[in-house]
Amino acid sequence: MPATPLVYPFTFGDRSMADLLGGKGANLSEMTRMGLPVPPGFTITTQACREFLASGVIPSSLTGEIESALRELEKMLDKKFGDPKNPLLVSVRSGAKFSMPGMMETVLNVGMTPEVAESLAKQTGDAKFAWDSYRRFIDMFGRIVCDIPPADFKKIEARILESHSVNSIQALTVDGLKALSQALIREIEAQTGKDFPTDPRQHLISSVEAVFHSWNSERAQIYRQRERIPSDLGTAVNIQSMVFGNLSDDSGTGVAFTRNPATGENGSYGDYLDRAQGEDVVAGIRNTMTLVEMNEREPKAFQELERVMSLLENHYRDLCDIEFTVERGKLWILQTRVGKRTAEAAFRVALQLVDEGKISMDEALSRISGEQLGHLMFPQFDLAGQVTEIARGIPASAGAAVGEVVFDSRRAFDLARAGHKVILVRRETSPDDLVGMVASEGILTSRGGKTSHAAVVARGMGKTAICGTESISVDERANLFTVGALTVYEGEVISIDGTSGIVYLGALPTIASPVTAYLEGKLDANSSQATPVVKAVDRILQHADASRVLRVRTNADTPEDAVRARILGAEGVGLCRTEHMFLGPRRAYVESLILAENEEAQRGIIAEMEPLQRGDFVGIMMAMSGLPVTIRLLDPPLHEFLPNIAELSAEMARAEALREEISPRQQAVFAAVKRLHESNPMLGLRGVRLGILIPELFKMQVRALVHACLEVRKLGHNPMPEIMVPLVATQRELLYLRKTLEEEIAHTLTGTGQHFDIPIGSMIETPRAAMTAGKIADHADFFSFGTNDLTQMTWAFSRDDVESSFLPRYLDLELLPFNPFESLDQDGVGLLVRIATEQARAHTSDFKIGVCGEHGGDPRSIHFFHSLHLDYVSCSPFRVPIARLESGRAVVLANMAGPASSST
Ligand code: PEP
Ligand code: MG
Repeated sequence: MPATPLVYPFTFGDRSMADLLGGKGANLSEMTRMGLPVPPGFTITTQACREFLASGVIPSSLTGEIESALRELEKMLDKKFGDPKNPLLVSVRSGAKFSMPGMMETVLNVGMTPEVAESLAKQTGDAKFAWDSYRRFIDMFGRIVCDIPPADFKKIEARILESHSVNSIQALTVDGLKALSQALIREIEAQTGKDFPTDPRQHLISSVEAVFHSWNSERAQIYRQRERIPSDLGTAVNIQSMVFGNLSDDSGTGVAFTRNPATGENGSYGDYLDRAQGEDVVAGIRNTMTLVEMNEREPKAFQELERVMSLLENHYRDLCDIEFTVERGKLWILQTRVGKRTAEAAFRVALQLVDEGKISMDEALSRISGEQLGHLMFPQFDLAGQVTEIARGIPASAGAAVGEVVFDSRRAFDLARAGHKVILVRRETSPDDLVGMVASEGILTSRGGKTSHAAVVARGMGKTAICGTESISVDERANLFTVGALTVYEGEVISIDGTSGIVYLGALPTIASPVTAYLEGKLDANSSQATPVVKAVDRILQHADASRVLRVRTNADTPEDAVRARILGAEGVGLCRTEHMFLGPRRAYVESLILAENEEAQRGIIAEMEPLQRGDFVGIMMAMSGLPVTIRLLDPPLHEFLPNIAELSAEMARAEALREEISPRQQAVFAAVKRLHESNPMLGLRGVRLGILIPELFKMQVRALVHACLEVRKLGHNPMPEIMVPLVATQRELLYLRKTLEEEIAHTLTGTGQHFDIPIGSMIETPRAAMTAGKIADHADFFSFGTNDLTQMTWAFSRDDVESSFLPRYLDLELLPFNPFESLDQDGVGLLVRIATEQARAHTSDFKIGVCGEHGGDPRSIHFFHSLHLDYVSCSPFRVPIARLESGRAVVLANMAGPASSST
């Protein structure tokens, strides 16, 4: 059987083949199929990369396959690779399944030799173009294939420019370009200890290897971790015949978007650089022209570009970004993909496409995410007070960021790790800055446009960015920037507004975003003040609400939170952590309870706690009138209400040493702290265990709840309480406690003439409870998964410690693909959730089941809970709109994936 090919010509594939051909390769094939002007070429598959990375050598059949594909290309173009008479030159570009802009490598002009340059000079009549192309090849080959530090090349460049008395490469003569290329080759030979290879075929294979290797570069790894792209996919490599944007005055290169990727405004948008090649635009090295200016210069190419943009947008039915080159007035398309965009643009573009009849509302909903909605809910700057505007740049990625100015990416990373909020300020960013960009609150550059590296990467990350702030002059060596007479040094605070592009001195206060104002009911989406993004969010959320099956409740412990969450769309309280009501100033009650000398004293204190608790419940139940409110009985270990044992021991020792008087209460507290101290408090006396040891405490809570319900009903509202027991591990615990609770409810209602149906449910947050859920269901009216504890106990990861101890290392090593406390581990913890759900539903087909751990607000986890047909998720008030959106999206995505994935 013939082996699966490792090389495919662009004439073979289509956009569905991104797994094998990478995104870029699949789209190049698709565009070739569409008959668009794509320079011919071929793609080396991701499979070849995986084999190379596993074995360290080029797969045995690959060299032969590349050779055959090259021959086909030569035939098609009537040119010959390496032949000075009629040379074929190619680019070698990475292209993974998921777009990783700027994270991997590219080598252009492969096939260049001095002889080829000489002949190209004759053929084109432009010796400078030919030798500049040769120089570019040596420069890229040296850096990317031979690992020469860019700074070493920069030094050589500076020396040659000085000796030729010019200040830019563009100003060098042909001799100057030749001298520079020779100097770069000498440096490569000195650093590698080898002669510079002269065979273009060897250049090609080495470039392919270097692109394969760049899959594992530090920046690519950081990017993948952040975007959760698996590290074992590998990259495809695209070999494409070169077209030259640096050939003549009617040549150039550019990047275009079919709609504005920053704001979502309708209408094409882009940057163009004349007499430039490849990465010059993205690198932000020279300031670019707009597409309007390009139209003035190259009207024919521009018209063709507009035609292609409209074809591509209609074909992909989405905002596309396009890299193109104009060679002697003719347009060539080098790449397209569905473009990255800000959250604002994502909402607006999706709705525009719906209104233009290009996509359905379901598709619109599938294309935006809860995370993007979260970005839009972030505060914006309050400009009402005194503000000091110091500069204006290009608003490249929306948001409001405040931080200390830092000029170096490593330093930004270190300071952020030490807890500082930083703004990375650079002349322009390069892929090497990724570590600092991830760590900073926002990014400010003095050069480059909306399609520069800084802008593209920031948008992809949802980070605030301003680019091309030409009035500031950045001195990265001296760690300062100047703007007019002002100098801003490292450590000084600035505020940057990525929506307006304005830079302010000092820390500006922030106010709620219009989207938050709308979500909180303070701004009507139909009013004239509502911005386009508010209108888009409104329509998308309405569609999500109409589509979703999961209910969304909130975790709220105060009436204020409950009110806020209800406005944000919560359909009840899924978790009211009653212990939070006894932290803070009311701590003393629990402390006194612990210190009580006898049961009578204990009862006295509990009696004092009861009205306070009742007041809390009244407020929450009023806020949620007509909606269910799940009151979770006290959960944490009692010692949490007492001082820390280590601190108290030190204090007592000090008092003893100084012979200070220790009061009887202090002594009693110390004794209690020692008595209640547990080695593993998370596995200790808490939750249901506490209720069994001190039933009076839980009874008090139940009495307070019933009285609160009576009061709320009297006020004309409709309380719908539920009681939830934490940390249950065996059905016997629940059975034992349930009896006590039911008696207390009945007793409290006696003589009131009132009746309340108060369901009593169990948290499922211990692995045993999950595995025996069918038995627990005998005594529970509902379940709610406490996925925080369930994760802690399934992994044996202390939820309070793991994030500051070994988890970061585990994530670095990809021993964990993500933090399981943020997003549910579906294989492990998720299996327990599935088992418990199946058992409960086998017990009673419509057994009510919710989730109240942090995962209830996490988009990926929500999709999983939807797939298990749970009834509701509960999350913090801020995340309620996000959960509403993701619950609707889960339905739409499952429907799109087909019946198989939506059925079970
Ligand atoms: C849980 O464990 O997931 C839970 C909701 O309870 P808590 O976080 O209060 O332990
Ligand atoms: Mg818990």
